[in-house]
Amino acid sequence: MAEPSRKGELLPEDVGSDDCLTSYTHIYSPDLLKDQVAFITGGGSGIGLRIAEILMRHGCDAVIASRNLDKLKEAAKKLSAATGRRCLPVCIDVRQPESITAAVDETLKELGRIDILVNNAAGNFLCPATSLSFNAFKTVMEIDTMGTFNTSKVVYEKWFQNHGGNIVNISATLGYKGQALQVHAGSAKAANDAMTKHLAVEWGPSGVRVNTVAPGPISGTEGFRRLGGPRGEAAGAFQSIPLQRAGNKTEMAHCVLFLASRASSYVTGAILVADGGAWLTSPNDVSMLLGIASSKSKL
Ligand code: NAP
Repeated sequence: MAEPSRKGELLPEDVGSDDCLTSYTHIYSPDLLKDQVAFITGGGSGIGLRIAEILMRHGCDAVIASRNLDKLKEAAKKLSAATGRRCLPVCIDVRQPESITAAVDETLKELGRIDILVNNAAGNFLCPATSLSFNAFKTVMEIDTMGTFNTSKVVYEKWFQNHGGNIVNISATLGYKGQALQVHAGSAKAANDAMTKHLAVEWGPSGVRVNTVAPGPISGTEGFRRLGGPRGEAAGAFQSIPLQRAGNKTEMAHCVLFLASRASSYVTGAILVADGGAWLTSPNDVSMLLGIASSKSKL
């Protein structure tokens, strides 16, 4: 059953680990994506895994694609067992277009079509710009930005161009205020937000919608753990967010479901911010985020 939060809102079920839900209450029709196929990069962990699960619970088969095939195979087994749908694990590095081409060919051979592409793969860590190596910045741009372009282009040319389809990119709000210690991910995601609009304009006439979900802090993810989320939660750091809590992975998957389905049939080029209002009010203090006492600067 959906769970009431502290404030009495009804939140969708979630589990903090990379496992499937033990129960799920449908909001949309369980047939919403009947017999469609979704291709999800980074679908073997975190938000991507939950996106795969929720889409599959609405009737589609899924391909989960990333670098670690063992992790993907394990995730695919769990996803099929929980949803009764097919899940194909495929090995790709979104920085290498030829690996994407091979995975898309395999998808079309095995599942016959692609209706939805979710560009979710990304790399992230906290690092001040002065300590960030040239290579680290480049790597995040290559995975987050070039990876999104590479995958979109391959799927478009091999299928969407002639059949239409839906692309949903997973972004972030980091660039909105220039979030401290995140110049790499913030810049990469800002480029992706522009790409969402460019591709929406160019590919709309082929029946392709391109939209984005921009999550805030999401519990039960590697990103949340690395960015100190659980400690922050215990220390009451989320009190400053208008909705006063972190989001959960199922909430992000529901946003993707909306944008990937006919529920949003007249929406393209849109960025759906799903952060409980966090970017409007969250602190952006470099010293505090570095954990450096500000006493020196006060002297
Ligand atoms: P995650 O579990 O670390 O997911 C990232 C996924 O990307 C992994 O499954 C990883 O799989 C895959 N990946 C990384 N590099 C890749 C590459 N070169 N080629 C193919 N796949 C690659 O992180 P998450 O926290 O769920 O994040 C998912 C998305 O949400 C990201 O786009 C992130 O920026 C966004 N987001 C998250 C939060 C949050 O609070 N967690 C907030 C805002 C935005 P392999 O290691 O197998 O390649």
